[in-house]
Amino acid sequence: MNKFPRFISKQVGRLLPEKILFKTDTPVFLPFYHVVSDKHLPYILNYPYRYPSEFEKELDYYLKYFKPVTLEYLLENPRSKEKVFHLSFDDGLKECADLVSHVLLKKGIPATFFVNSGFANNKALFHRYKASLILSELITKPNSEAELFLNNNGLNRQNILQTNFSKVDILDKTANILDISFSDFLKNKNPYLTTNQIFKLKENGFSIGAHSENHPEFWTISEEEQFAEIAQSMSWIVEKFNPAIKTFAFPFTDSGVSLNLLQKLKSENICNLTFGTAGVKYDQFKTHLQRYPAEQPGDFRLNLKSEFVYYKLRNVVGKSTVKH
Ligand SMILES: [Zn+2]
Repeated sequence: MNKFPRFISKQVGRLLPEKILFKTDTPVFLPFYHVVSDKHLPYILNYPYRYPSEFEKELDYYLKYFKPVTLEYLLENPRSKEKVFHLSFDDGLKECADLVSHVLLKKGIPATFFVNSGFANNKALFHRYKASLILSELITKPNSEAELFLNNNGLNRQNILQTNFSKVDILDKTANILDISFSDFLKNKNPYLTTNQIFKLKENGFSIGAHSENHPEFWTISEEEQFAEIAQSMSWIVEKFNPAIKTFAFPFTDSGVSLNLLQKLKSENICNLTFGTAGVKYDQFKTHLQRYPAEQPGDFRLNLKSEFVYYKLRNVVGKSTVKH
């Protein structure tokens, strides 16, 4: 991939004040997160999650330039020209109820929580979190048998965090060698939201959406399998929580997801509103919106300003709309 436009965006982003940059004509701003915690979470090495103090600062920053809006507003105004933002959180982690929701209520910020039906109530652990737990263990207690087994299966310390769902059995076998029990981990640590906690979030005015059953890499599975993952998780959400809006956020990315699938979700009334993670961009499908991954390494403010400059640059060459 050509990194030059990103580099230019960073340099320009450094110079442009927010007041000018964010005032320009851009898509609705949709930052998303996973978890906020002041603890070291050995199962989350995949992205730099925020400390509570950093998170609050980032919220104040959004509030300075954008007005917080609800999911209902987004559905009615998917291409709003107002300077608005809607916050969301993926993977249904318990900190969303314990910490995030309190901060959001205090500040009056609506949000949507996207939950994996296969993980809620601590039924199973996301394969990338399994990989993180294994890597955390290997860093503190090197184990040559486990590393040899990983190597024989094309995995190592450098690439284990990118392990695909199709290789989850390799992770399970490695965990056995290391004496890690994922079921004990789920039972003792309860990393995920329970049905009751999700109810409480809904009662407090937050929106609840689906995020697939098992969080597979969608680009590695067939369109039928993609549809099944979406439909199953969505029907679990509808059955348990009966949300006013049926919304789904694609796990990892919607890159490679066909226009046909998006149309089918809409026409069969499985989802009213869907989300990708391509950053600040428009999408060719009107009720499919692109979100900005806020949990990136580096300076938060500069990352965000660069993202908006990058959007502007792509807009000039007619490439600011995601096509499927
Ligand atoms: Zn996710």
